[in-house]
Amino acid sequence: MERYKENQLKVYNSLSKTKENFKPITDGYVGMYVCGPTVYSNAHLGNVRTFMFFDVVYRYLLHLGYKVRYVRNITDAGHLENDADEGEDKIARKARLEQVEPMEVVQRYTVDFHDVLKNYNFLPPSIEPTATGHIVEQIEMIKEIIAKGFAYEVNGSVYFDVHEYNKKENYGILSGRKVEDLLNNTRALDGQSDKKNPQDFALWKKADEKHIMRWPSPWSDGFPGWHLECSVMSTKYLGESFDIHGGGMDLKFPHHECEIAQSKTCSGVKPVNYWMHTNMLSLNGQRMAKSTGNYILPNQILSGENNILPKSFSASVVRFFNMQANYRSILDFSGDALEASEKGHAKLLEAVNFLEKIEAAKISTFNVKTWKKECYAAMNDDFNTPILISHLFEAVKVINQIKENTASLTAEDLVILKETLNAFVFDVLGLMNENMQNNSEKINGVVELLIKLRKEARENKDWALSDQIRDELIELGIQLKDGKEGTTFSLN
Ligand SMILES: [Zn+2]
Repeated sequence: MERYKENQLKVYNSLSKTKENFKPITDGYVGMYVCGPTVYSNAHLGNVRTFMFFDVVYRYLLHLGYKVRYVRNITDAGHLENDADEGEDKIARKARLEQVEPMEVVQRYTVDFHDVLKNYNFLPPSIEPTATGHIVEQIEMIKEIIAKGFAYEVNGSVYFDVHEYNKKENYGILSGRKVEDLLNNTRALDGQSDKKNPQDFALWKKADEKHIMRWPSPWSDGFPGWHLECSVMSTKYLGESFDIHGGGMDLKFPHHECEIAQSKTCSGVKPVNYWMHTNMLSLNGQRMAKSTGNYILPNQILSGENNILPKSFSASVVRFFNMQANYRSILDFSGDALEASEKGHAKLLEAVNFLEKIEAAKISTFNVKTWKKECYAAMNDDFNTPILISHLFEAVKVINQIKENTASLTAEDLVILKETLNAFVFDVLGLMNENMQNNSEKINGVVELLIKLRKEARENKDWALSDQIRDELIELGIQLKDGKEGTTFSLN
């Protein structure tokens, strides 16, 4: 039986501001969309926190037995400097400053993003669509919004009419903002803008002569507004209504509010059932900012090349550190906190590895079945990873007691403990067994040494020794293959 049938997941929905029972639209299937990065600079640690949390959400949904389509986009066009409709395109600006093609900027930072995610043991999403790959679909959606009467064209640009939409629907449903308040808080029109009202947002922007990233459209040679791509790509790959939409909380307004308005206008239905938002990350108690130097790149944590942390930390330790905080709380990143996590992480992995050596006893001194339920209950409660980790440490305590012969487990309980601990540590939290990695490096080294000795034996025509090395390795499940390039091996 699929695990989701016996685990009622609860999700904190930013839309209702309550924890709700999670019920996917189609039984057994989950559609999840997470706003991806704008690839104009190196992957930002704050964004990595967001993506890491949704990686754990994805992993847990898979663990529960759901078939998940996870879509995370790449924004490679249309994201302007101030996140609204003014200023230069972030990618175009970087390209101008570095005197390269915008697509060179996109390529460089897409590669960097993937490199970081691979280092931190992320599962790849099911689909990773790009904004530039969906210009045709974006133009079609704009046509539809105009046809429905909720957008207007001025001088080659097209704007979404927030006031017209708000007559029928609720603009502000997600962020809690009121259009009237927005009116008072938005700076007055400077006469330069083509918008009817300052709250209106761009669906299509006419490109000026210098703007390289441009596409033909019925209105002008231009580019789509940033909010549009997510409506288009989520609808295309997940349908008009889907289960989970995630992102950092800074995206709630205006980005996600605009997404709802666009999608609802076209389909007439509620686009997303569960909105999930991650909180911010600070560095040494302060806002992370390149300009103040209070800044670190995800890969610099691994290499130790930075002035922020006292030493390097492994990707698995950083993952563990992230998961020790609830995703809806602010997380403060610091050397002290990471060093404490490093100790906890080592203790946890040591216990997991020692588990393999434990022998079953006649009685159990620990209620493994209750403990297992508590682990699932923690994750079912809106992915509460810090509570899960506290339960994992109850198991660590028991394992250490077994080591000292002050506790014991039956064969049946031992199997449950092993399966559950391995599932949560590796499959769900995505931690990496660095001891095992070290061990496999050692094994490789030993086999390479034996291959070298066997080669020397053959050169000395000591066929008996050469055959003995080959045959005894086979018995250990290691197969040698002699080829033109030398001898290679495979582990069975
Ligand atoms: Zn988005």
